[in-house]
Amino acid sequence: MSEVDRYAVIGHPIAHSRSPVIHRLFAEQTGQLISYGAMDVRPEELDTAVTRFFGEGGKGLNVTVPHKGEVARLVDALDERAAQAGAVNTIYVRTDGTLGGDNTDGHGLVTDLQQNLGIEIQDRRILIFGAGGATRGIVPVLVDSGPAELVIANRTLEKARLLELQFASSGNVAAVRFEDLTEPFDLVLNATSAGLKGEEAPFPSDVVDSHSVCYDLAYAMQPTPFQVWARRHGAAAAHSGWGMLIEQAAESFRVWRGVRPDTGPIRAALAPDV
Ligand code: NAP
Repeated sequence: MSEVDRYAVIGHPIAHSRSPVIHRLFAEQTGQLISYGAMDVRPEELDTAVTRFFGEGGKGLNVTVPHKGEVARLVDALDERAAQAGAVNTIYVRTDGTLGGDNTDGHGLVTDLQQNLGIEIQDRRILIFGAGGATRGIVPVLVDSGPAELVIANRTLEKARLLELQFASSGNVAAVRFEDLTEPFDLVLNATSAGLKGEEAPFPSDVVDSHSVCYDLAYAMQPTPFQVWARRHGAAAAHSGWGMLIEQAAESFRVWRGVRPDTGPIRAALAPDV
């Protein structure tokens, strides 16, 4: 068996993933001896790939599109934030040898918003475009941060309605259609995959004014289509999801290794100033 603890990210496709370089930098910074690879796993290979990885002594997996929901049934126990999200992005080996599933996406987003960017969540009116896996991961953590209102707008209204129902007890989560939106928000999050293929972003411009801060969960080496859209409509700021990516990775690293990397130098090294 290898002496170096093995980790990897699984997804399909996976070639674009920045996780191996982020975790290599975390390991160098914290002096942890690990290896971290990228595995292209098709949906029909998911069960076999996960079982084999841990059967061969692997210590942890990150999970990305399209497996975050499916992989939840392959672990022995879900942490609360994974259970609430119905999605797992981090698998780890528990002390009794069984597998735990966690979700660090919401933690990554809120850390980037509050600590890195100084953006308030408490008592703010927040809009999320999209109701897919990423939204399921971030809504529980956003609700915990005490927004005045959390509106989820999705092309397929039913998916947003399920989240509204799940968080009904918080009393301030609402599902709407894009065309129902007529007023500006303090914080506008894009958690859709719309626009990534170069198509025009389908969002109503009324949600943005000169006080609105916009944040795209997507990230690229150049401004994303949502950042371009937000700036064109006069938003106060338009950030991309690089910081979230690095913060969710740091939280996975902490779950696995018990050590929290300092993300500042990693953000400075990797995230373009766009
Ligand atoms: P997903 O589960 O596939 O959900 C996609 C969402 O986009 C759905 O709400 C879908 O609406 C919507 N959508 C897609 N095309 C659209 C269009 N043309 N018009 C309007 N809505 C459209 O994907 P996901 O896992 O949630 O990921 C969403 C984004 O978040 C991706 O860009 C991903 O890279 C990013 N992300 C970033 C991080 C990070 O660390 N920075 C972490 C997680 C995710 P329907 O429900 O109507 O299909």
